[in-house]
Amino acid sequence: MLDEEERLRKEIVEVSRRLYEKGFMAGTGGNVSAKLPNSRSILTTPSGVCKGYLKPSDIVKVDFEGKVIEGRLKPTSETPMHTLIYKTRPDVNAIIHAHPPFCTGFACAGMPIDSSVFPGAIVIVGEIALVEYATPGTEDLAMKVSEAAKTHDALLLQNHGTVTLGASLEEAYLKTEVLEETAQILLISSLLGGFKPLPETEVKKIRLMTTKNEQNT
Ligand code: 13P
Ligand code: ZN
Repeated sequence: MLDEEERLRKEIVEVSRRLYEKGFMAGTGGNVSAKLPNSRSILTTPSGVCKGYLKPSDIVKVDFEGKVIEGRLKPTSETPMHTLIYKTRPDVNAIIHAHPPFCTGFACAGMPIDSSVFPGAIVIVGEIALVEYATPGTEDLAMKVSEAAKTHDALLLQNHGTVTLGASLEEAYLKTEVLEETAQILLISSLLGGFKPLPETEVKKIRLMTTKNEQNT
Protein backbone atom coordinates (compact mmCIF):
# COMPACT_ATOMS: atom_id res chain seq x y z
CA MET A 1 0.00 0.00 0.00
CA LEU A 2 2.79 2.43 0.93
CA ASP A 3 4.54 1.52 -2.31
CA GLU A 4 1.39 2.36 -4.23
CA GLU A 5 1.12 5.69 -2.37
CA GLU A 6 4.78 6.49 -3.18
CA ARG A 7 4.18 5.60 -6.83
CA LEU A 8 1.08 7.84 -7.00
CA ARG A 9 2.92 10.75 -5.34
CA LYS A 10 5.68 10.50 -7.96
CA GLU A 11 3.14 10.24 -10.77
CA ILE A 12 1.25 13.36 -9.57
CA VAL A 13 4.57 15.27 -9.52
CA GLU A 14 5.41 14.07 -13.05
CA VAL A 15 1.94 14.77 -14.53
CA SER A 16 1.88 18.24 -12.90
CA ARG A 17 5.30 18.99 -14.44
CA ARG A 18 4.08 17.96 -17.89
CA LEU A 19 0.93 20.10 -17.52
CA TYR A 20 2.98 23.12 -16.41
CA GLU A 21 5.53 22.72 -19.22
CA LYS A 22 2.73 22.47 -21.79
CA GLY A 23 1.43 25.83 -20.53
CA PHE A 24 -1.80 24.31 -19.23
CA MET A 25 -1.18 25.50 -15.64
CA ALA A 26 0.56 28.88 -15.72
CA GLY A 27 1.53 30.64 -12.49
CA THR A 28 0.08 28.74 -9.54
CA GLY A 29 -3.01 27.61 -11.47
CA GLY A 30 -4.51 24.14 -11.68
CA ASN A 31 -4.48 21.07 -9.46
CA VAL A 32 -4.11 17.30 -9.73
CA SER A 33 -5.41 14.50 -7.51
CA ALA A 34 -5.45 10.70 -7.37
CA LYS A 35 -7.54 8.33 -5.26
CA LEU A 36 -5.69 5.91 -3.00
CA PRO A 37 -6.93 2.40 -3.80
CA ASN A 38 -9.41 0.81 -1.39
CA SER A 39 -9.60 3.86 0.86
CA ARG A 40 -11.73 6.95 1.17
CA SER A 41 -8.71 9.22 0.84
CA ILE A 42 -6.94 11.08 -1.95
CA LEU A 43 -3.55 12.59 -2.73
CA THR A 44 -3.62 16.15 -4.03
CA THR A 45 -1.31 18.93 -5.12
CA PRO A 46 -0.72 21.73 -2.57
CA SER A 47 -2.48 25.09 -2.86
CA GLY A 48 -1.02 28.35 -4.13
CA VAL A 49 2.31 27.05 -5.44
CA CYS A 50 3.62 26.46 -8.97
CA LYS A 51 2.72 22.89 -9.95
CA GLY A 52 5.74 22.55 -12.27
CA TYR A 53 8.35 21.93 -9.57
CA LEU A 54 6.67 19.79 -6.90
CA LYS A 55 8.36 17.08 -4.82
CA PRO A 56 6.58 13.86 -3.72
CA SER A 57 6.70 15.14 -0.10
CA ASP A 58 4.73 18.29 -1.13
CA ILE A 59 1.68 16.17 -1.99
CA VAL A 60 -1.10 16.32 0.62
CA LYS A 61 -3.26 13.40 1.74
CA VAL A 62 -6.89 14.26 2.59
CA ASP A 63 -9.99 12.22 3.38
CA PHE A 64 -13.24 12.36 1.38
CA GLU A 65 -14.49 15.16 3.66
CA GLY A 66 -11.41 17.25 2.79
CA LYS A 67 -9.69 16.83 6.19
CA VAL A 68 -5.87 16.72 5.98
CA ILE A 69 -4.49 13.31 7.00
CA GLU A 70 -0.85 13.97 6.10
CA GLY A 71 1.18 16.86 4.67
CA ARG A 72 2.99 20.08 5.60
CA LEU A 73 1.28 22.22 2.95
CA LYS A 74 -2.35 23.23 2.43
CA PRO A 75 -4.31 20.98 0.03
CA THR A 76 -5.70 22.49 -3.17
CA SER A 77 -8.42 25.13 -2.70
CA GLU A 78 -10.47 22.98 -5.10
CA THR A 79 -10.51 20.04 -2.64
CA PRO A 80 -14.36 20.24 -2.35
CA MET A 81 -14.61 19.75 -6.12
CA HIS A 82 -12.17 16.81 -6.21
CA THR A 83 -13.72 14.96 -3.23
CA LEU A 84 -17.30 15.43 -4.47
CA ILE A 85 -16.38 14.05 -7.90
CA TYR A 86 -14.77 10.96 -6.30
CA LYS A 87 -17.91 10.46 -4.20
CA THR A 88 -20.14 10.81 -7.26
CA ARG A 89 -18.03 8.71 -9.65
CA PRO A 90 -16.55 5.60 -7.98
CA ASP A 91 -14.96 4.61 -11.34
CA VAL A 92 -12.76 7.74 -11.35
CA ASN A 93 -9.23 7.41 -9.89
CA ALA A 94 -7.65 10.68 -11.05
CA ILE A 95 -8.74 14.29 -11.64
CA ILE A 96 -6.97 17.17 -13.36
CA HIS A 97 -8.10 20.79 -13.18
CA ALA A 98 -6.18 23.09 -15.54
CA HIS A 99 -6.35 26.46 -17.30
CA PRO A 100 -5.24 25.56 -20.86
CA PRO A 101 -5.37 28.84 -22.82
CA PHE A 102 -7.36 27.72 -25.88
CA CYS A 103 -9.95 25.82 -23.82
CA THR A 104 -10.15 28.67 -21.33
CA GLY A 105 -10.68 31.08 -24.25
CA PHE A 106 -13.75 29.04 -25.25
CA ALA A 107 -14.82 28.91 -21.58
CA CYS A 108 -14.52 32.72 -21.24
CA ALA A 109 -16.53 33.20 -24.44
CA GLY A 110 -19.17 30.85 -23.02
CA MET A 111 -18.72 28.74 -26.14
CA PRO A 112 -18.99 24.94 -25.90
CA ILE A 113 -16.34 22.70 -27.49
CA ASP A 114 -17.83 20.18 -29.92
CA SER A 115 -15.76 17.00 -29.81
CA SER A 116 -17.57 15.51 -32.82
CA VAL A 117 -15.39 17.44 -35.29
CA PHE A 118 -12.47 15.06 -35.28
CA PRO A 119 -11.98 11.39 -34.38
CA GLY A 120 -9.17 11.97 -31.84
CA ALA A 121 -11.50 13.99 -29.63
CA ILE A 122 -14.36 11.48 -29.93
CA VAL A 123 -12.07 8.59 -28.94
CA ILE A 124 -10.00 10.19 -26.16
CA VAL A 125 -12.20 12.95 -24.72
CA GLY A 126 -15.83 12.07 -25.47
CA GLU A 127 -18.61 14.64 -25.11
CA ILE A 128 -17.56 17.86 -23.39
CA ALA A 129 -19.84 19.53 -20.83
CA LEU A 130 -20.01 23.31 -20.40
CA VAL A 131 -20.43 24.04 -16.68
CA GLU A 132 -22.02 27.32 -15.56
CA TYR A 133 -19.65 29.71 -13.74
CA ALA A 134 -19.21 29.49 -9.99
CA THR A 135 -16.51 31.07 -7.79
CA PRO A 136 -13.31 28.98 -7.68
CA GLY A 137 -12.84 26.87 -4.55
CA THR A 138 -16.51 26.98 -3.48
CA GLU A 139 -19.06 24.25 -2.68
CA ASP A 140 -21.18 25.83 -5.40
CA LEU A 141 -18.50 25.05 -8.01
CA ALA A 142 -18.04 21.56 -6.54
CA MET A 143 -21.77 20.87 -6.88
CA LYS A 144 -22.08 22.18 -10.44
CA VAL A 145 -19.00 20.28 -11.63
CA SER A 146 -19.88 16.97 -9.94
CA GLU A 147 -23.40 17.12 -11.38
CA ALA A 148 -21.96 17.42 -14.92
CA ALA A 149 -19.33 14.77 -14.09
CA LYS A 150 -22.12 12.19 -13.67
CA THR A 151 -22.31 12.00 -17.46
CA HIS A 152 -19.04 13.51 -18.75
CA ASP A 153 -15.28 12.90 -18.32
CA ALA A 154 -14.29 16.26 -19.80
CA LEU A 155 -15.69 19.56 -18.61
CA LEU A 156 -15.25 23.18 -19.55
CA LEU A 157 -15.78 25.53 -16.57
CA GLN A 158 -17.15 28.90 -17.70
CA ASN A 159 -14.68 31.78 -17.24
CA HIS A 160 -12.23 29.42 -15.54
CA GLY A 161 -10.73 26.32 -17.19
CA THR A 162 -11.08 22.56 -17.58
CA VAL A 163 -11.60 19.39 -15.56
CA THR A 164 -10.82 15.91 -16.86
CA LEU A 165 -11.44 12.58 -15.14
CA GLY A 166 -9.72 9.26 -15.67
CA ALA A 167 -9.32 5.71 -14.43
CA SER A 168 -5.63 6.71 -14.11
CA LEU A 169 -3.55 9.89 -14.00
CA GLU A 170 -2.26 9.17 -17.51
CA GLU A 171 -5.82 8.89 -18.84
CA ALA A 172 -6.86 12.18 -17.20
CA TYR A 173 -3.68 13.81 -18.59
CA LEU A 174 -4.33 12.62 -22.16
CA LYS A 175 -7.88 13.98 -21.96
CA THR A 176 -6.61 17.45 -20.98
CA GLU A 177 -4.03 17.37 -23.78
CA VAL A 178 -6.49 16.30 -26.50
CA LEU A 179 -9.16 18.68 -25.16
CA GLU A 180 -6.73 21.57 -25.65
CA GLU A 181 -5.77 20.24 -29.10
CA THR A 182 -9.49 20.16 -30.00
CA ALA A 183 -9.97 23.77 -28.88
CA GLN A 184 -7.01 24.80 -31.08
CA ILE A 185 -8.37 22.88 -34.07
CA LEU A 186 -11.82 24.43 -33.65
CA LEU A 187 -10.41 27.93 -33.42
CA ILE A 188 -8.24 27.45 -36.51
CA SER A 189 -11.10 25.95 -38.54
CA SER A 190 -13.35 28.86 -37.47
CA LEU A 191 -10.73 31.28 -38.78
CA LEU A 192 -10.65 29.30 -42.04
CA GLY A 193 -14.36 29.73 -42.60
CA GLY A 194 -16.05 27.46 -40.06
CA PHE A 195 -15.71 23.86 -38.93
CA LYS A 196 -17.81 21.07 -40.37
CA PRO A 197 -18.84 18.46 -37.77
CA LEU A 198 -18.62 14.81 -38.79
CA PRO A 199 -22.00 13.25 -39.68
CA GLU A 200 -23.83 11.75 -36.67
CA THR A 201 -23.55 8.24 -38.21
CA GLU A 202 -19.74 8.57 -38.35
CA VAL A 203 -19.59 9.88 -34.74
CA LYS A 204 -21.67 6.88 -33.60
CA LYS A 205 -19.43 4.48 -35.58
CA ILE A 206 -16.27 5.87 -33.93
CA ARG A 207 -17.89 5.75 -30.44
CA LEU A 208 -18.89 2.12 -31.04
CA MET A 209 -15.35 1.21 -32.18
CA THR A 210 -13.96 2.86 -29.03
CA THR A 211 -16.37 0.96 -26.75
CA LYS A 212 -15.48 -2.35 -28.44
CA ASN A 213 -11.75 -1.67 -28.07
CA GLU A 214 -12.24 -0.84 -24.37
CA GLN A 215 -14.16 -4.09 -23.84
CA ASN A 216 -11.32 -6.06 -25.48
CA THR A 217 -8.63 -4.58 -23.23
P1 13P B 1 -4.80 25.79 -5.95
O1 13P B 1 -3.39 26.27 -6.10
O2 13P B 1 -5.39 26.09 -4.59
O3 13P B 1 -4.94 24.34 -6.33
O4 13P B 1 -5.73 26.65 -6.94
C1 13P B 1 -5.48 26.73 -8.30
C2 13P B 1 -6.73 26.86 -9.10
O5 13P B 1 -6.66 26.69 -10.30
C3 13P B 1 -8.01 27.22 -8.44
O6 13P B 1 -9.09 27.09 -9.31
ZN1 ZN C 1 -8.53 27.01 -11.43
